[in-house]
Amino acid sequence: MMHLLLPLVPFLGTALCAQPSAPTPIAAPLRELPWAQLNFLHTTDIHGWWGGHLQEPSYSADWGDYISFAKHLHDKADADGSDLLLVDTGDRIEGNAIYDSSKPRGKFTYEIAKEQRIDLICSGNHELYKKTSSDGEFYHTVPDFKGNYIASNLDIYNPKTGKLQPLAPLYKKFTTKNQGIRILAFGFIFDFTMNANNTVIHKVADTMKEDWFQEVLQERDVDLILVFGHVDIRSVEYATIFSTIRGLQPFTPIQFFGGHSHIRDYKRFDSKSVALESGRYMETLGFMSIDGLSSGGTKKQVAVSQTPKLTFSRRYIDNNLFSLHHHSNKDGNSFPTKHGLNVSGQIDEARKSLGLSKRYGCAPHDLWVNRRPYPHKESIFSWLEEQVFPQSVAQSSRIVDGGKAIVITNTGGIRFDIFKGSFTKDTTFLVSPFTSGLRYIKDVPYKAASRVIKLLNNEGPIADMMSEQNAYLQPAEQIAAKYRPQMYSHLGQDSFVHDLHAQSPISAQHDRLFPGYTTRDDAGEDGDDTLHSEIQFYNVPNCIQASVGFDAKKDTPENVDLIYNEFIEKWVILALEYLDEKYGEEDTHAYLDGKSFTDIMTDWVKEHWDFVNAANPHKPTMPPKTISKGRTLQEPSFARTTVQALTSSDNRPIITAIGMFAIGVTFLHSSWAEILLPA
Ligand SMILES: [Zn+2]
Ligand SMILES: [Zn+2]
Repeated sequence: MMHLLLPLVPFLGTALCAQPSAPTPIAAPLRELPWAQLNFLHTTDIHGWWGGHLQEPSYSADWGDYISFAKHLHDKADADGSDLLLVDTGDRIEGNAIYDSSKPRGKFTYEIAKEQRIDLICSGNHELYKKTSSDGEFYHTVPDFKGNYIASNLDIYNPKTGKLQPLAPLYKKFTTKNQGIRILAFGFIFDFTMNANNTVIHKVADTMKEDWFQEVLQERDVDLILVFGHVDIRSVEYATIFSTIRGLQPFTPIQFFGGHSHIRDYKRFDSKSVALESGRYMETLGFMSIDGLSSGGTKKQVAVSQTPKLTFSRRYIDNNLFSLHHHSNKDGNSFPTKHGLNVSGQIDEARKSLGLSKRYGCAPHDLWVNRRPYPHKESIFSWLEEQVFPQSVAQSSRIVDGGKAIVITNTGGIRFDIFKGSFTKDTTFLVSPFTSGLRYIKDVPYKAASRVIKLLNNEGPIADMMSEQNAYLQPAEQIAAKYRPQMYSHLGQDSFVHDLHAQSPISAQHDRLFPGYTTRDDAGEDGDDTLHSEIQFYNVPNCIQASVGFDAKKDTPENVDLIYNEFIEKWVILALEYLDEKYGEEDTHAYLDGKSFTDIMTDWVKEHWDFVNAANPHKPTMPPKTISKGRTLQEPSFARTTVQALTSSDNRPIITAIGMFAIGVTFLHSSWAEILLPA
């Protein structure tokens, strides 16, 4: 192994880029980008993950790397006369400590986001829950992306004048730089109802009837209509937009970009219209291309007519340097641009100033949001229900004095998994970024209190109301799965035998791949750039419940305090009303003086998982660093995988990058790396 040391040194310095503590990506077989006449890079639901994933090698590239990557692809487009456009479909905030632990929230986010040249950008629902964040869009993101921020169905009360106005222009008509493709673009948000009262969302169906929308669609000199939005691509809203536009423009191609459901997906509306959705949390850079469009031409390029058949192609890129180097045909030295490096440095500075690596404890094993069934010893919800809530609430004076309580929280408040190993300030905000605390109603009859959870979780009047108001309490991926039941794994199922569609060309190699996205969409199973083995995905309910001070299986107390996450207060009060127990907001009180759930969880971790400082000498000692080791990611046999991929005649579209990168990665994941590199 030692002879590999010298040539590998460049991979270990700043040339590799990403965040300093990011794990090294794992080499894997890759599919190429289907580059064409018009190309797109699409991000959505970034939720503040500008620094990438610092515990997951597959998604370890950061916003600075994305800036370098886009620059190289722009250069490629300029060199071959094609075009590249960048799209972001909202939910850029909430979900990561860079945003949620800064004061004011957003202090770093706007500065980091604006460094990328995004051609089309819109708002998500998370930008609109609070007045401060929608005003943040008004004061920062809209002017930062002036002319590119589109708000087709979203108005704001201007914080300076108090007058209601569109947050940004309603649409945009523009021509691409190299091909001269004439594009008409609209930026939507789904029919969201839980926004603060300083914004107004026009229902999509109503917007379709508005004069401006009908008029602008009379335009005939259009080569492509582009609808991008914070909207599930399989939603009623997008179906309505598609049928309206298609009615007015029978022959014009329509490209949709969607978001909000946090999954990878691709939908075909008709032979000239498709939709792409590109995941969440900077895990995915969506790539989309179209061949065969007409164009008005440029000084260098003659105008062309639409070809009889259009070709739409998609690829979901795993956001790590192995993929980004390969798709931009660069290496560790030639990949990072000065601009990209500066932005990576800016993110590192922000993380340092927020003290995000401050360690609170050490998780003894992984805890999953969706990858384990509920209940399960590795379900994050079982952990909350059996340990965090009972043990935290048991310390309150009402329980110490002999009181009893039920605690209810919604699963959607938990945003991410906990990985075995260091639990830091960063982890806290990834798992629970929201500021909401717990509230309670005193002495609710147990007979009613114990039935609230059933009303919140099961079919019935409350669930119907939630559905009508687009107010879901589960994680976004779970809501997406409601319309895509094939996403669910079944208990006891082997993760490699879940084959619903045609066979995968590399199924014989599945046992040598490591877990990751294995997307099935309307174009088949070849969308992901990286070949992975399948990750399991299970259903979780809207809400979970813990009993404190009594055993719900044996005891039936007369009254309990009903404690709940303040985010679900409206639904808890409605459920009680349905159970003939009338309470209003005036009957509710802040639990623990309004301490946020995030702080409650942090204090629990400090008390129970801080094995280093714990007074109890019998508690196990945790290893000092377990990032990317001791996780579920398996290391593939690179030599075996690559040789098989290259020798298989079925694998012509699959390119396997071999060479120094793979060797370097092998080294970094070897025991030598652990000995020779600083921790
Ligand atoms: Zn989101
Ligand atoms: Zn959303």
